[in-house]
Amino acid sequence: MKYGRTYNFSAGPAMMPEPVLEEIAAEVMNYHGSGMSVMEMSHRSSVFQQILDEAEADLRQLMNIPQNYKVLFIQGGGTVQFAMVPMNLMKNGKACYIETGAWSKKAIAEAKKYGDVQIIASSADKNFSYVPDCSDLPIDEDVDYVYICENETINGTTYRKLPNTKGKILVSDQSSMFLSRPCNVADYGLIWGGVQKNVGPAGMAIVIIREDLIRDDLPSFVPTYLQYKTHADNGSLYNTPNCWDIYCCGKVFKYLLANGGLEAQAQRNEDKAKVLYDFLDSSKFFTGAVRTEDRSVMNVPFVTPSKEQDAEVVAATKAAGFDNLKGHKSVGGLRASIYNAMPKEGVESLVAFLKSYEKEHA
Ligand SMILES: *Cc1c(COP(=O)(O)O)cnc(C)c1O
Repeated sequence: MKYGRTYNFSAGPAMMPEPVLEEIAAEVMNYHGSGMSVMEMSHRSSVFQQILDEAEADLRQLMNIPQNYKVLFIQGGGTVQFAMVPMNLMKNGKACYIETGAWSKKAIAEAKKYGDVQIIASSADKNFSYVPDCSDLPIDEDVDYVYICENETINGTTYRKLPNTKGKILVSDQSSMFLSRPCNVADYGLIWGGVQKNVGPAGMAIVIIREDLIRDDLPSFVPTYLQYKTHADNGSLYNTPNCWDIYCCGKVFKYLLANGGLEAQAQRNEDKAKVLYDFLDSSKFFTGAVRTEDRSVMNVPFVTPSKEQDAEVVAATKAAGFDNLKGHKSVGGLRASIYNAMPKEGVESLVAFLKSYEKEHA
């Protein structure tokens, strides 16, 4: 690794591609002859407008986003979307949620403030270590949408197949898998992702919403800023947006496009995850925490035989130069987040380390 950087396995904020960071560093004093950095630039300037337009166009190309979907850059990170989704999409005041872990639970708790929330499937019975069967769920005729967290960052599960929503709109929190693989946008009414897991700096979410779901008949209590319409009507420039974040994300979009797009990125992610999962499957000391068919390609929780040994391994990895491998307290053990920007060598050296640790201690 260059610059004394470390393999950072954090669940977020997380690693960004090194060539992107180098470009950002090179432009920080004077962006393209503008005489200033993007941090200092008016969001109403033509220079910034071009950055924003290119970011949107590049994301549309990457994800092949249909014309009838809007792309919105909204501040407040992921958590604000837990409220914006029900505030904007509950027309009948009724929605179905699938409970697969910590982040869907947060979404459920927030949505309950705005309407009737029905939990139509859950994996709580086994500490969220799997994704429930979603092929035939009890979905009422009058529900406004069906909500999923498509990759549970803390629990390490992912959907291999989208739920059968019986014709209702599917809303997906893709925060920890955004741009990790191709995705057919037309399958969804709304996709949102906080960007700090797989794209850029924290503090912003990207929302991809089908135009007909943007309402102008919202109840008056919905704050102006929290209406999708406000952002759609103003091209994500209703107020000062997170210009710096949009700029950094735009760089990552270009980087992904130049490196084979999402098909190629998905292949790299699968290859990387296989290195770690193959090791966990062969190990007698470490055990993966998730049912095999529902394992996330991005977040890999695993445990040793005891809490004490979990803590010892975490400390040993840290001393060996691998950062942020402590698992979330609700799952325990360890968790390796291996997002887009984690190089394969990072996973290979972690596995080599865990192998030798097992030899010595198990
Ligand atoms: C991180 C995360 C969030 C919350 O993002 P914040 O920007 O911290 O609010 C929501 N959903 C998922 C799946 C996440 O991984």
